[in-house]
Amino acid sequence: MKEPLENGAVKVLHALQQQGYEAYLVGGCVRDKMLQRPVKDYDIATSARPEQVQKTFSRTIPTGLQHGTVTVIVDGFTYEVTTFRKEEGYEQYRRPSEVHYIDSLLEDLRRRDFTMNAMALDADGLLMDPFHGMEDLRLGVLRCVGVPDERFEEDALRMLRCIRFASEYGLQIEEQTWASLCSHAPLLKHIAMERVRMELERMIGGAAPHRAICLLIESGLLQQSKEPLRLAQLTHEKATTADLNPLMKIAAPAARWAAIYLTIAGDADSVEEDLKRLTFSKQQIKDIVWIVAASIYIVEQAVIYNKGADENCDSLERSWKLAALQYGTKSMWELHSLICLDSAAALLPSFPSGLLESLAANGADWLEELQITSLSELQLSGKDLLIHLNRKGGPWMSAVLQHLLEQTALGHIENQTEPLLEEAKRWVLYNEPA
Ligand code: ATP
Ligand code: MG
Repeated sequence: MKEPLENGAVKVLHALQQQGYEAYLVGGCVRDKMLQRPVKDYDIATSARPEQVQKTFSRTIPTGLQHGTVTVIVDGFTYEVTTFRKEEGYEQYRRPSEVHYIDSLLEDLRRRDFTMNAMALDADGLLMDPFHGMEDLRLGVLRCVGVPDERFEEDALRMLRCIRFASEYGLQIEEQTWASLCSHAPLLKHIAMERVRMELERMIGGAAPHRAICLLIESGLLQQSKEPLRLAQLTHEKATTADLNPLMKIAAPAARWAAIYLTIAGDADSVEEDLKRLTFSKQQIKDIVWIVAASIYIVEQAVIYNKGADENCDSLERSWKLAALQYGTKSMWELHSLICLDSAAALLPSFPSGLLESLAANGADWLEELQITSLSELQLSGKDLLIHLNRKGGPWMSAVLQHLLEQTALGHIENQTEPLLEEAKRWVLYNEPA
C-alpha cells in the first residue's frame, strides 16, 4: 500500500472549502509534519456534517457515522474526515456517551489529548495551535490539553498513550501531567485488555521500548490492569540491571517481548497466561513463548550436562539443534540475536557464564548445519512405515518419525528413503520388539 499523499489531503480540504465549509488537517499528521517525520495517515476535521461530507465527494465510506467520521477516497487514497465535535458524559473512563457536532475548530481541538496532537493546518499551510503544541515540541515536553486530572478521568487510555508518545518521540512528560497520570493509574482497570495490549505493543515495538518500560514501572500502571499481569513484576532494578536498552537493536517484536519476560523469572506457561490475558493472537503467543521456552530448555540442558561431564561442547550443540526442531529455527535465530547483544549477560540472567559465549560464537553455524528442520522434509512418511514395517499403526510411529527427524537433522543419517527405513527397522527392533 502506497503512502497517502499530502496533496490528496489538500484536495479534500479544498473541495470542502468550495462548498463553504471549514476544513483542516488535524492530529497526528500535523504533529508528524511539523516534526518532519513521515506521516502515516491524514485526518481531516471539518465544519461540514457527515451527510454534507458524503454529498461533497463521489466516493465515500460511512466508516464511523456515530462519531461523525466519513472516509473519503481521492485518487485511490483514503482520508478520514470527521465533523468538529465535542465529547461529553464520558462513561467508564473511556467512551463519551454523547458526541455533539459543533462549529468551532477550537472546541474540537480542546477535546484532544496532548498539546502536540491538538494542532491544525489549513490548506495554505497556516498552523492553528491554540494550546501551544509547537512550543511544547520545541521544549521536548508532552503536556495534556487543559487540566490533566480531568483528561485522564475522561479517558484512562490516555495514560498509556502518554507513555507511548513520550517514549516514541523522546519527550519529557510535563510535571503536572505526570503527577496526574501517576495518581490516576488505578483507573487503568477500566480499560479493556485489548486496548492495553495495543498500546503496549506499540511501545515495545517502537523506538524506545526501554524508556517505555521505565515509565510504565515508575507510573505503577502495570499493577492496575483489569486482569493481573506478571509483567507487573518488572521492577526498576530488573529493568535497569537487565539493561533492556539494547532491545532497540532487535527488530523482531517477539524477541523483544521474550527478552522482557526472561528478565522476570518464570516458566513458559506463566508467560503464555500473561499473553493470553493481554489478548495477543495465537501466532504471537507461540512466537514469544517458544523463544522463552527454548531459552529455558537450553539452560536446563547445559546445567544437567555440566554436572556429569567436563567437555560440554557437543552436548550444547546437540541441545541447541534439538531445540531448533522443537521450537522452530525462527525462534532460535531470534534467541540467538538476544544472545549476541552486548548486554546479553544482564538480559538473560539465567544463562551461566560461558554458555552465552559458546552460543554467541557457534549458535548461528549450528542452525545452518541442520540438514532438515521439520517432519515434512523427511523422505519417509508414516504411510511408508506402515507399508514397509508391516505393523499396525500406534504411538510407535510418531516416536520413530521423531527419532528419524532428529538423526537426520543432526546429520547422522542421510535424508533418503532407504537409510531412513533401515534406521526405522533398527529402532523398532530395539525399542518395540514384536
Ligand atoms: P498515531 O496514529 O501515531 O498513534 P495519532 O496522534 O494520529 O498518532 P490517533 O489515535 O490516530 O493518534 O488519533 C488521531 C488524533 O485524535 C490524535 O492526534 C488526537 O488529537 C486525537 N485522539 C486520539 N485518541 C484520543 C484520545 N484517547 N483522547 C483524546 N484525543 C484523542
Ligand atoms: Mg493517527
